[in-house]
Amino acid sequence: MTQRNIDRLLLTVLEQARALKIPISSRVAPHVRLNRRARNRFGCCIRGEDGYVIELSARLAEEGSVEAISQVLAHEVLHTCHGCSNHGQRWKGYAARMNAAYGYSIRRSDGFETLGLTDDRPVRYLVVCQKCGRRIPRMKRSPLVDHPERYRCKCGGALRVADGDQFDLFDQF
Ligand SMILES: [Zn+2]
Ligand SMILES: [Zn+2]
Repeated sequence: MTQRNIDRLLLTVLEQARALKIPISSRVAPHVRLNRRARNRFGCCIRGEDGYVIELSARLAEEGSVEAISQVLAHEVLHTCHGCSNHGQRWKGYAARMNAAYGYSIRRSDGFETLGLTDDRPVRYLVVCQKCGRRIPRMKRSPLVDHPERYRCKCGGALRVADGDQFDLFDQF
């Protein structure tokens, strides 16, 4: 999908949210920024001095359906509401209203499958420190991946292998 069409979708999504009286920011940049490097998230809402910029993964922009792209844009747009920088109750409430009104399936994190894409990421395992949150990606199985309990993070924290769902699509933080 072209940049222009994606910007149009953003406009549509903003209008949809406003029609439901969801208090999205009036300062969302009209151009969606395409991110070619992010592989582990599909969208991102960046707060700057002049308002918000919505970022979309270039891969989703190129291969995703209108529905998938709109859904991710809607997810990110809801982060511009007051008190919605995370996926807390308020954000979830707005997401539920968008879903009910427009047939989206906005959720905390989307997967490649739910967006109709093939997961082509090389990283298959992610070991996470339970104390400092350090993330250690591994391309294949290894003693660390099989037995994280035998190792320690540099900070001394215990290590655990994250579930597939946990290391996908953090669009924030
Ligand atoms: Zn640590
Ligand atoms: Zn989010």
